[in-house]
Amino acid sequence: MECVVVGAGVSGLSCAIRLLERGHNVRVMAKEFSPDLVSDVAAALWYPFLAHPIEKTDRWGAETYTELMRLGEQEPMSGITMRLGREYLREVVELPGWRNNITHFRVLESNEIPKGWIFGWEFESPIIEMHHYMPWLLQRTRELGGIIEENIVEDLDEISAEVIVNCSGIGARDLCQDTEVKPVRGQIIYINQDPGFGRFDQQPETLTYTIARRDCTVLGGTAQNDDWSLELRDSDRETILQKCEAVWPELDRSKIIGESVGLRPSRSEVRLESEIVNGTLIIHNYGHGGAGVTLSWGCADEVVSLIEGS
Ligand SMILES: Cc1cc2nc3c(=O)[nH]c(=O)nc-3n(C[C@H](O)[C@H](O)[C@H](O)COP(=O)(O)OP(=O)(O)OC[C@H]3O[C@@H](n4cnc5c(N)ncnc54)[C@H](O)[C@@H]3O)c2cc1C
Repeated sequence: MECVVVGAGVSGLSCAIRLLERGHNVRVMAKEFSPDLVSDVAAALWYPFLAHPIEKTDRWGAETYTELMRLGEQEPMSGITMRLGREYLREVVELPGWRNNITHFRVLESNEIPKGWIFGWEFESPIIEMHHYMPWLLQRTRELGGIIEENIVEDLDEISAEVIVNCSGIGARDLCQDTEVKPVRGQIIYINQDPGFGRFDQQPETLTYTIARRDCTVLGGTAQNDDWSLELRDSDRETILQKCEAVWPELDRSKIIGESVGLRPSRSEVRLESEIVNGTLIIHNYGHGGAGVTLSWGCADEVVSLIEGS
């Protein structure tokens, strides 16, 4: 089929690759490309966070986990490694549904939990270095025969194709007049120091993370609803550092090497559904919040199923 994918973030390129692998013709149209996207700012840890509905995100997440692990083993240029992390919680909660679909998960002993938290778990998950992964996705799309076009789409109606896959992220707010799409602002810090294992508190109100990549560690974070500012804020930097020091007292501020900010494309639920407009099949795939990388391959596979089952 003749497919146009709108968007060249992690969602759009994963869909483009899956469609090309299945033998479809694909053009990717986007107004901006890596390294200027929120996908480039992603930290990026595999972990279902700020994305709903849970029964679907658990499934998409599990499928993506398997694929990211495979890419890490078979495609060294993709920049994916596996790491241990510990999630700390301030109350005892039900264990996450995805725990049975990953390589390692165990509840922490009380002597492994820092002061101020009472519960937690250790898990192994893929760390995706987006400055390697985004170029790899783009190259893979081209290698498979995908055509990449810079183009601002004002209206999906203007595209001539059998199928349109709409992966416009926060751009869907204007493109689809979908006011449910809102930014959740995230500021991060890069530090040239390794915490050994990742330390996390991923409740939106207390959001704290230390994500160890091979080149640096990403410290976060903030999750500010409906905040469109892309300016770095001193107050956020200080809050992030204090939160990270609480879980990683050895953190050395003199080793900070940079920072960044991005807007997560949040929505009450990921919009992954099809509609037919003027005879064209449109598959929407946006609103992945803080888990666009975590859900990418599972969502791409579902997009292909919707197209091929239509
Ligand atoms: C600080 C921070 C940390 C994060 N950490 C993680 C993490 O650890 N793990 C994780 O899974 N996720 C993480 N995320 C979330 C993740 O970055 C997003 O969920 C993901 O990048 C969304 O990808 P996307 O492809 O849907 O959108 P985008 O990357 O925003 O791509 C959208 C594309 O659509 C194009 N577009 C939009 N409108 C139009 C239009 N009208 N015409 C043409 N093109 C258009 C854009 O130009 C772009 O190419 C983090 C986000 C932030 C901000």
